[in-house]
Amino acid sequence: MKLAVAGGKGGTGKSMMASNLAFTLVSSGRSVTLVDCDVEEPNLHLFFPAPATTTVVTVPVPVIDEVACDRCGKCEDACQYGALTVLQSRVIFFSELCHSCGGCTLVCPKQAIREEPEWVGTLATSIPMPHLKLVTGTLDTGSPLAVPVIKEAKKQAVGDHEVIFDTAPGTSCPVVEALDGCDACILVTESTPFGLHDLQLAVDVAARLGVPAGVVINRSDGKDEATTRFCIDHDLEILLTIPFDREIAAIQSRGDLLCRARPEWQKDFMALFLKCRALSGVDP
Ligand code: SF4
Ligand code: SF4
Repeated sequence: MKLAVAGGKGGTGKSMMASNLAFTLVSSGRSVTLVDCDVEEPNLHLFFPAPATTTVVTVPVPVIDEVACDRCGKCEDACQYGALTVLQSRVIFFSELCHSCGGCTLVCPKQAIREEPEWVGTLATSIPMPHLKLVTGTLDTGSPLAVPVIKEAKKQAVGDHEVIFDTAPGTSCPVVEALDGCDACILVTESTPFGLHDLQLAVDVAARLGVPAGVVINRSDGKDEATTRFCIDHDLEILLTIPFDREIAAIQSRGDLLCRARPEWQKDFMALFLKCRALSGVDP
């Protein structure tokens, strides 16, 4: 099963959910691939420190041959992202706007554009415990191209049996890319007005992608009526509620896992996993 852990708001506990779920499954004898798709701020490796093998992620970007170019302007017209400006004397390329679509290379009548790889991020792969593979995508500082890094990170899990994707906060392209193709999705939220607002956005994205979703309420203070009503109205199952608890916060703040420090929680996370499996329709 390919399971995503998402949620509109940052800081709701997505990484905590993903890492504890992975730890619980591995502890029960399953093999798991955990993929950190929060490439601008990956943090799962903090819960699972281990030596990693690193590879580079590149994308093709255009390079203009100014001698062959006759400044016809066709590449500028073709670029939907405004990454090329054709002046009388030369073509200016704005790499931060380029989406590596290859369109300009195709339309150039003078074959004056070739493509060269540009470094946009890295993938780090490690085995922090037996039967757990951790893939961490990291976007290069200043690069706007999170999606290619996420795509490459997801490729590392192709064919693996149990895969958990930890997504970025929000509902932008990187989250859509991480969710796309998943069998089910856990939406982590808090029972606050901001949490509910962002949960609504996340529910909409999951629905548009056709990914079955359920909700986990994290740091609950017991006043979950608005979130519960929203879930009932939208036919969303509340898969798990984790109370606000100083001990849980202390466990996390020292980089430990709830299910490692307090193994009695593993039964709750295993129940969560089985509910996700039921949501997905994937055979056990
Ligand atoms: S399409 Fe080719 S020839 Fe025309 S301006 Fe662009 S690089 Fe130059
Ligand atoms: S590769 Fe695509 S996005 Fe980049 S400059 Fe060419 S047309 Fe624009």
